[in-house]
Amino acid sequence: MSNYKELSPSLRTIMTPGPVEVDPRVLRALSFPILGQFDPEFTSLMNETMAMLRELYMTDNEWCYPVDGTSRSGIEAVLVSLIQPGDKVLVPIYGRFGHLLVEISERCGAEVVFFETEWGTVFDPEEVIKAIHAHKPSLVAMVHGETSTGQMQPLAEIGKACRDLDILLAVDAVATIGGTPVETDAWHLDAVMGGTQKCLSVPSGMAPLTYNSRVEKKLMSRKTVERGLRDATSARAEGRTIASNYFDLSQLQDYWSSARLNHHTEATSMLYGLHEGLRILLQEGLEARFQRHLVNERALVAGIQGMGLQLYGDMSSKLPVVTCITIPEGIDGESVRSMLLNDFSIEIASSFGPLKGQIWRIGTMGFSCQRKNVLHVLGALEAVLLRHRHVLPAGEAVQAALDVYAGKEGALC
Ligand SMILES: *Cc1c(COP(=O)(O)O)cnc(C)c1O
Repeated sequence: MSNYKELSPSLRTIMTPGPVEVDPRVLRALSFPILGQFDPEFTSLMNETMAMLRELYMTDNEWCYPVDGTSRSGIEAVLVSLIQPGDKVLVPIYGRFGHLLVEISERCGAEVVFFETEWGTVFDPEEVIKAIHAHKPSLVAMVHGETSTGQMQPLAEIGKACRDLDILLAVDAVATIGGTPVETDAWHLDAVMGGTQKCLSVPSGMAPLTYNSRVEKKLMSRKTVERGLRDATSARAEGRTIASNYFDLSQLQDYWSSARLNHHTEATSMLYGLHEGLRILLQEGLEARFQRHLVNERALVAGIQGMGLQLYGDMSSKLPVVTCITIPEGIDGESVRSMLLNDFSIEIASSFGPLKGQIWRIGTMGFSCQRKNVLHVLGALEAVLLRHRHVLPAGEAVQAALDVYAGKEGALC
């Protein structure tokens, strides 16, 4: 007799920068029967997913498909497939995920040049462009939306500069994809890596990405499959080939192409979930979806300010899907978070490194980005802060948010 109980997870209001709540339609798709990975029904699902990803990434790229694994698997796949040991990679850092790009690039044997700007701000694109001219890297890797600091880096000028110099630009758009525009082609981004559990509102476990023919050319030059055994072995020894099998984009691409060359076993249920998540997204429409994220962000920000709390970071480069709040003097941030979870079933996030204990982060992403959630988190946060003897203008927060939803003049701070 086993005493392990059947799972029954609590129904939470998840207002973190991921994972977020999932649309019931996606949860249902995850429970559908398994198809074999070369079943025509399944391969047509793969093709449809690629077509929908093309719309999401605003690109004409042939290659738009998911890597199986959490978001960083897509980042790792792009970096390990593009970086040859000794290659110079430039990483401008403005938060925690910039450091992840450095770490992975170093593991790939790159000579990494990085520089950091103050957390809570982004780079003036000119500063990055100057560094690109000075260092002449073969690859620039950057984060689009830094969930750790709630900041978003403008990329169009940097993309143009890289293209003019024939340098590849790889972008971590895990936090932004599906919540705010990521204009792959218009901004000249060569590879863009996304994730499922943030604004796409699908569980964690896939990393949809896209890359263009410039990247493909590099992949083909490092491809081993068609080489003779002896040449492949010596190329591998010299680091001219891709050092990972699982993350080898040249092989993944052959699997996603009409050739359907066997590689891994596709994560069937996750693909059902991603397919349904993308269908929901395109039914809502990209523009309407971005607008929904903006309105809920505005209501949340108005509520936080109405409560008398300070927002953290430069507001002119604020990431629309994450709002960072300075924890008031004398308040124990973790005690507030646990009361929100235990008494209101709401989860908000803390932060990392230098910001640990300094800020809370509230996500408004995907299915979690709804009026009811924003009003609920504002009401609850106010109650919890009062419980922690913080003095605030009671009742103002929810009213300020309601004013935004009502479209009242002057409601937008
Ligand atoms: C969440 C996040 C990641 C990492 O995602 P995992 O799914 O945890 O691997 C990477 N970059 C950014 C910007 C993120 O927000």
